[in-house]
Amino acid sequence: MTKHIFVTGGVVSSLGKGLTSASIGLLLERRGIRVRLQKLDPYLNVDPGTMNPYQHGEVYVLDDGTETDLDLGHYERFCNAPMTRDCNYTTGRIYQEILRKERAGEYLGQTVQVIPHVTDEIKRAIDKLVAPDVDVIITEIGGTVGDIESLPFLEAIRQYRLDKGPEHVLYIHLTLLPYLRASGELKTKPTQQSVGKLREIGIQPDVLICRCEVEPTEEMCRKISLFCNVPRDGVLVEKDVDHSIYEVPLVLRDQQLDATICQKLRFPEGRADLSDWEAIVRTVIHPQHEVEIAIAGKYIGLHDAYKSIYESLAHAGIRNHAHVKFRKIEAEQIEDEGAERLLAGVHGILVPGGFGKRGVEGKIAAARFAREQRIPYFGLCFGMQIAVIETARNLAGLERANSSEVDPQTPHPVISLLDAQKKKVDLGGTMRLGSQPCSLKPGRALEAYAAPLIHERHRHRYEFNPAYKARLEAAGLVVTGEHESEHLAEIVERRDHPWFLAVQYHPEFKSKPTRPHPLFDQFIAASLRLRLERGGGAARIATAR
Ligand code: GLN
Repeated sequence: MTKHIFVTGGVVSSLGKGLTSASIGLLLERRGIRVRLQKLDPYLNVDPGTMNPYQHGEVYVLDDGTETDLDLGHYERFCNAPMTRDCNYTTGRIYQEILRKERAGEYLGQTVQVIPHVTDEIKRAIDKLVAPDVDVIITEIGGTVGDIESLPFLEAIRQYRLDKGPEHVLYIHLTLLPYLRASGELKTKPTQQSVGKLREIGIQPDVLICRCEVEPTEEMCRKISLFCNVPRDGVLVEKDVDHSIYEVPLVLRDQQLDATICQKLRFPEGRADLSDWEAIVRTVIHPQHEVEIAIAGKYIGLHDAYKSIYESLAHAGIRNHAHVKFRKIEAEQIEDEGAERLLAGVHGILVPGGFGKRGVEGKIAAARFAREQRIPYFGLCFGMQIAVIETARNLAGLERANSSEVDPQTPHPVISLLDAQKKKVDLGGTMRLGSQPCSLKPGRALEAYAAPLIHERHRHRYEFNPAYKARLEAAGLVVTGEHESEHLAEIVERRDHPWFLAVQYHPEFKSKPTRPHPLFDQFIAASLRLRLERGGGAARIATAR
């Protein structure tokens, strides 16, 4: 029978529930337990696909094309559990289904209400992942206990334990122990109140994970245990990590979280083998090299907007024994100050995905700078379209070439909407989305993947315009990857450059610390080589791959 772990959060948002859930998933998987992970988001958008990065951070895309919350990125980076559309529900999606049923007459004339109809629909969403080959489902509830909009979710998970029996359901609550600098002490009251709020709803947490800046004393932990009615071994401390989020699972393992969970859910005894994970953390703490990578984007002030990209760069850094230092640059600023001023000295330049006009000319200037200065360039999605526009304008003589997204009047729409996308009018879910097959021709991409057919995730509307392929290839930008059957250009490379490669898809969604993405790996290796040529830390870099 499939068991359940529900993860809730209290006191404040942004406590790292996603990371904690992913860490729990990792610890259990490493004990041989078959895990699934799921996020329930209380907001009303049907999915985060149409939400602005300022509101919501990165939109993470799954193989099946679902546009999801970025916490699913943490789940996939830490765990091997398959992720599908059933792994992320929002209130909007729950209501969409209820309203569909109501219009179809499926409620047979009943009054449709939050309890039981909304709560039943939420329970159905959780049940979707129940299967004979699933031992435990970790369901994270977005938002904070006490929010009006999370109430139906909390009510549904309360009922869940009643339905399934206490030995099948475990509640984990994440809270904050704020540190008051003035008095130099940690405070437990907000945690007590948050647990009080949960207990009012009928949920008694089995495990409390206390986030904090400084370590609480044993006496404090006992106090929290007593006041929150949680046994002492269920009170854990998750102090801010010093170096990397990849330390979190080790911190929780050291406090026997996986053993406590297994005991409470009656899983067989065992031990999580984390030796490779420990090695990763050691490399993060003691890297042999450092490279500096510029990321020229549009939401640079927001770490979460490019979450998976920063993580993928870090993974490739680990593989190359290098700390990757980020130089985050607002593309618009390049337009004002020039590429030379902002980009000089970096060892690699990455232009991420994006939508709309703002900052486009700055990104084009960044691609040009990388090409002319022979600095490794990695373009992701919009970053590939940018590379195409740059070559078109500056090497193929196609004046004012552009993407028709940016300039609908351009005389040379080297990036344009193809017919299949033109017919779509809604904004939600109408892009080329999800995993698509791509055949590789000889080139760096083929070298990196070491396989002729790959699958990568997409999220875009516009495409490389095949009418310009011959002229762009003549200008040195060669198509080395094409959609297996539809012949859309998916990868372009320059052969006259140390490493200039851009892809129409999002490789950042498939990188894990234990399995860095081959293209990120190559990009960082090329950046390290540039650093070596320039003489920075040459002696140490001699040992790099
Ligand atoms: N705006 C571009 C398009 O829609 C690129 C999208 C992206 O970078 N994700 O095709």
